[in-house]
Amino acid sequence: MQTTFTPEQLQDPDTRESNGILRTCVHCGFCTATCPTFVLLGDELDSPRGRIYLIKDMLEGGKPATEEVVRHVDRCLSCLSCMTTCPSGVNYMHLVDHARHYIKNTYVRPWPERTLRALLARVLPYPARFRAALLGARLGRPFARLVPGASLNAERLRAMFRLAPGALPPPSPLQAPQVHKAAGTRRGRVALLTGCAQQVLAPSINEATIRLLTRMGIEVVVTRDQGCCGALNHHMGDQERAMALARANIGAWSHEAESEGLDAVVINTSGCGTTVKDYGFMFREEPGPWRDRAEQVAALAKDISEVLVQFGYSPSRPAPDLTVAYHSACSLQHGQKVTAAPKQLLATAGFRVKEPAEGHLCCGSAGTYNILQPVIAAQLRDRKLGNIERTGAALIAAGNIGCLTQLAGATLPVAHTVELLDWMAGGPAPPAVEQARQGARHGARGAA
Ligand code: SF4
Ligand code: SF4
Repeated sequence: MQTTFTPEQLQDPDTRESNGILRTCVHCGFCTATCPTFVLLGDELDSPRGRIYLIKDMLEGGKPATEEVVRHVDRCLSCLSCMTTCPSGVNYMHLVDHARHYIKNTYVRPWPERTLRALLARVLPYPARFRAALLGARLGRPFARLVPGASLNAERLRAMFRLAPGALPPPSPLQAPQVHKAAGTRRGRVALLTGCAQQVLAPSINEATIRLLTRMGIEVVVTRDQGCCGALNHHMGDQERAMALARANIGAWSHEAESEGLDAVVINTSGCGTTVKDYGFMFREEPGPWRDRAEQVAALAKDISEVLVQFGYSPSRPAPDLTVAYHSACSLQHGQKVTAAPKQLLATAGFRVKEPAEGHLCCGSAGTYNILQPVIAAQLRDRKLGNIERTGAALIAAGNIGCLTQLAGATLPVAHTVELLDWMAGGPAPPAVEQARQGARHGARGAA
């Protein structure tokens, strides 16, 4: 694709980067077939190729973003399915991240949406605020269906109430800063990203991770001063806040790597993993020490499934006679290209593993997407659940809290992959297992 940026525009590092990306696109359109929004809406402007043209015109023109561009970029899930399909290696992720930052700086959204986005950016990354907000949303849940109107903002409000869980688990003491010693001879040492939303919604995921790793002889450090990875803000175009959050993590983990040594930074929320693995790119224009530290942390970042394969996971219980539908989170399969490891691990643990049709399509969670674009998100969720149910599995396993929240509450129970692996290696059974067994007893679903 030809571009017409001026030499002055190319002085800006982000524009320079986007120019290089745009020039790799050959307009072939292969990406459209695997783009969830194009599949649903059938509009070229809601396909990757269409968005690439819109972004190109916006950046080259150097003018404020228009309502049309914002509408179509906002509908993008950042699922990165297009990057898996693209034969030319177009880095759509960096392009759309730049577009979102550009939109944030040049487009004034209607005030209700500005308020909602500001609220999400200031609440979700901070566990104490998020917990307080969820407790408030719980009180409002019974009134969700009384929210009047069919506007997008009314849908957003209803979606927020709907997504708030009915009950919240208490905070887990295991997630506080500390060192969890390896059982027996130490074979490795890792830092764990305990996350933001996940540690409030499902602390059992971090608990299972810590139990499983320490049982395998791996010391797990929860460092002081770490927090949200920055992904939620990054995907809303709030680059400054995302960088500040990322900087805190980089400081904490690089200090740990240099003092006591680390084999990996373990991440069990794949949406966060994609961002942490990209810290090197995010800090590419920073002064030397920060750039180097960001690259070091990005190189250490590993999904929990990669670490378990590396250290040789093995179960200690007999096979559970359960069929699991493995839902491959977009951030894991498209963002990090981790596809085989979680399925292999579940099979090693003794589960029968099924993969739903259209596994490349997003479930509609996508960070804050299911709040900001609730109608498309709900359509994707229903489509995903239909495909999962047709596998005949008794429960759903996934490696990302966003997907688990999006798919929960339907006909099948959900569990994080690591909770199932921990159970089969001696940990407690996650509640989803008993629910799955009950479902199997009543409907012969997922049983042998
Ligand atoms: S598949 Fe790649 S090269 Fe082809 S239109 Fe899509 S982004 Fe461009
Ligand atoms: S990231 Fe996903 S939704 Fe966005 S253009 Fe690519 S395939 Fe479509």
